[in-house]
Amino acid sequence: MTSISVLHHLAATTLPPPRMFVGGNWVEGVADPIAHQHPATGETVFQTPAADRSTVDAAVSAARKAFDEGPWPRLPGRERARYLRKIAELIRADTANLNALLSLDNATPVSFVGFYQMGAEYPADLFDIHAGWIDKITGETFPAWDSGQPFVFTSHEPVGVVGIITPWNAPMSLFAQKVAPALAAGCTIIAKPSELAPLTSLRLAELVAQADLPPGVLNVITGHGDPVGAALVEDQRVDKVSFTGSRAVGSAIASSVGARIGRVSLELGGKSPGLIFPDADLGMAVALTAGNAFLGLSGQVCVTQSRVLVDRSVYDQVLEYLVGFASGASFGDPFNPAVSGAPMISRAHMDRVLGHITRAVNDGATVVSGGGRVADTPEHGNFVAPTVLVDVDNSMPVAQDEIFGPVVCVIPFEDEAQAIRLANDTQYGLGAAVYTGDMGRALRVSKALRAGNVGVNTWTLPANAPFGGMKQSGLGRENGRDGILEYLETKTTFMA
Ligand code: NAD
Repeated sequence: MTSISVLHHLAATTLPPPRMFVGGNWVEGVADPIAHQHPATGETVFQTPAADRSTVDAAVSAARKAFDEGPWPRLPGRERARYLRKIAELIRADTANLNALLSLDNATPVSFVGFYQMGAEYPADLFDIHAGWIDKITGETFPAWDSGQPFVFTSHEPVGVVGIITPWNAPMSLFAQKVAPALAAGCTIIAKPSELAPLTSLRLAELVAQADLPPGVLNVITGHGDPVGAALVEDQRVDKVSFTGSRAVGSAIASSVGARIGRVSLELGGKSPGLIFPDADLGMAVALTAGNAFLGLSGQVCVTQSRVLVDRSVYDQVLEYLVGFASGASFGDPFNPAVSGAPMISRAHMDRVLGHITRAVNDGATVVSGGGRVADTPEHGNFVAPTVLVDVDNSMPVAQDEIFGPVVCVIPFEDEAQAIRLANDTQYGLGAAVYTGDMGRALRVSKALRAGNVGVNTWTLPANAPFGGMKQSGLGRENGRDGILEYLETKTTFMA
């Protein structure tokens, strides 16, 4: 076991205040603070303030007042757009700091922070992109259908007070992916980031505060999912809940919000397939699949291609490449540029991932690479070795359950029809990738896949296009026109 420390990076970083942002003021936590333990070392890097139901009540009251009585929903679009552009500028000016905070938050390796969706560039762009949507939120006019209604038109109005709940794996990007469109639409917000990665979201709250939004427009509170997230979801004054996280919590939130006919958007988990056909550039296909599953956040990404479906004629070659990739990953101090993979976010999550592997082996799977913890990493670090499993039937739990770690199942197929059947044989429908040199096949297969996002020979999600899941991967979309419509209600006006 090696010994590393990340504590010396604290002095070189502008940490957010250990407080929450409510009604335009920084407030202390009221429950016991949560020690934020670094996933690579187990060191405590921050004491996260914890809200309770009274903090939720204060934050919702502030957001409600800002929506019902404040200027924000009524501001001319040009002025709202200026605020969003200002926030983008503030984020850009803080890029290096935010990126370092990300490595302290969830141990994202610095070698991976430059990946567009992870670092501060993406949230900054999202504020700019959504500033650009403000003047494009247009309605329709309708020809007269009946006498007495010569003029009929629709307009879009903000949905109201929005509760935003985010996970720990891409805390900056996911915060911005919800806060930017909600602000652009004219909503007011209570955001609750994950207790497992609070640093970047609190720092973003600080930057948004510097943009001088009217008080109560953005409130950021921290604490455990239950009671803090749960209290937010249950509050009748919250018009909409926008949640990113696990399917189980998403399902509970949908039931709670649905019971009071509140609005809800859900971005949930996945069990995404990568389909590798024999006419693909196999090196590229494996690099994209394995890069996603083993490097960076080490498979702790919702769209990880955790099921590698391979044409039997190239199965051995693909397996050899995958194992090479798995054994080439390096682990340790995320601030070391030579480190390419991340630890699991917590000890409990590491144990869960290892439990999935043990169960798979008991069910008949064979480990051809990895299968346990990474040797020579800190004792209190949560590192799991990139794991390649074969002899997996698609019906086995390891091929059906989201593992959220560096574990891939490699499953052969005989022809295109079987590949599509296997790919779609899952409760999830978030991402999928098709690797082929035949564009006819690429279009045919991507159309047949029941997934919200399909990459063809690439895997970089576009920031300006909709993202979201089919089936149990979610409800609604983020980004693009579909994304901003999630924060708007349509009103039809008919005039004599
Ligand atoms: P999680 O569901 O455990 O927690 C997500 C958030 O919900 C956290 O802020 C947590 O505090 C809060 N929460 C927990 N219980 C709650 C409750 N009862 N009521 C209200 N809020 C509650 O998920 P996680 O472990 O933080 O994140 C991993 C999951 O997120 C994976 O399933 C992953 O696929 C998913 N994810 C999805 C996307 C996407 O865009 N589809 C993106 C990233 C992550």
